Amino acid sequence: MKFNNLKLIEPILQAIEEKGYETPTKIQAAAIPIILQRKDVLGIAQTGTGKTAAFAIPIIQLIYRIDGNRQKRPPLRALILTPTRELAIQIDENIRDYNKYTKIKHTVIFGGVKQGKQVQAIREGVQILVATPGRLLDLINQRILTLDDIKVFVLDEADRMLDMGFIHDIKKLLRVLPEERQTLFFSATMPANIITLSSKMLIDPQRVEVARKSSAAEAIDQFVYYTNRDKKVDLLNYILQDTEDEQILVFVRTKHGADRLAKKLKRGRFRADSIHGNKSQNGRQKTLKNFKAKLTKVLVATDIAARGIDITKLRYVINYDIPNVPETYIHRIGRSGRAGEEGIAISISEPEDNVHVRAIERLSKKAITKVEDHPFPQTDKPMTEREKKEWNKEKQRRKQEYFRSRKNGYRR
Ligand code: AMP
Repeated sequence: MKFNNLKLIEPILQAIEEKGYETPTKIQAAAIPIILQRKDVLGIAQTGTGKTAAFAIPIIQLIYRIDGNRQKRPPLRALILTPTRELAIQIDENIRDYNKYTKIKHTVIFGGVKQGKQVQAIREGVQILVATPGRLLDLINQRILTLDDIKVFVLDEADRMLDMGFIHDIKKLLRVLPEERQTLFFSATMPANIITLSSKMLIDPQRVEVARKSSAAEAIDQFVYYTNRDKKVDLLNYILQDTEDEQILVFVRTKHGADRLAKKLKRGRFRADSIHGNKSQNGRQKTLKNFKAKLTKVLVATDIAARGIDITKLRYVINYDIPNVPETYIHRIGRSGRAGEEGIAISISEPEDNVHVRAIERLSKKAITKVEDHPFPQTDKPMTEREKKEWNKEKQRRKQEYFRSRKNGYRR
């Protein structure tokens, strides 16, 4: 199967080619023709299967057919609803790439930030809107946008959406969406509440199912080192020593953390650099070019920045900070072991993160191998005053982040 066989228009084929995709993934081959025929889809697939392109590409094509790219202020044609801000941003970035030559107007909205810029983008006219539920309902309530002209509605990660308490928001949205529309419903799992919801939303849907992606949980060897915060850099240096000339992607939680860690590694014997959202586009490109050219060994990245990075045959991914959202972990380690290559994912856990390791194991239904024999084992010695202060600050930040993501679900 080739993209050429999917009846896609030339400008989209061109963009896909530039993105470096050679063949459609299973879900793309199955879903794209169905969506182009304007049928409802019940897609059972998780992140990593290429599902974003599976719905984004045909949506772009459908809208391009309706509107062309000439309208000055076109109506909102497609709504993609997704549970988290990160997913929303990622989907919008994907759309930007596939839409390079079709130039459909699109934007992304999510809570936790001021609405001004998002409102401005909407006022300028948007054909595809990627949104998290809370902010979307806010803007609808403020009459900044309506869903009256929606032709295609995508509910992405439906199971996670319900887990996060968004069911009431979804029901509210269903009341303001036009009844006559195409609905694409995606969920990684199909528990009873999801089956009920999907049956309410879909009309005569075509079912598209791809097996749970095995690569994250199975084709990647996963290890965890337990240590304490003040020993993490030393431990990382120790781990890096064993990686010979392999290149390593190291994930950290914050932009400043990325800079700090890259600096510390450079002080040791490793050529390291950092990549994150505070760097200019040029700066990021240069960093990436150096990494691809193997001028740097270690690239320290935040999750968002890493999404734009496409490096094949990366053997190692290291979680210097363990993510508090288990799906993020799956996403990160998916950066290793591509194209049939064996991958290795190593995580460094400080005591406060041990609970996240367990959550990850629960999600992937697989135990992560614990490396016991290393020089920096975790101890329960009390934190120093400085560590305590730092940790309190971090705790506060995480709490805020948590409430921000929850606020939208519970406020109304
Ligand atoms: P998703 O499941 O949408 O999160 O996609 C997972 C990753 O696969 C993303 O990094 C995409 O850029 C990439 N991807 C999607 N479709 C293809 C394809 N046909 N060929 C190669 N990579 C792809």
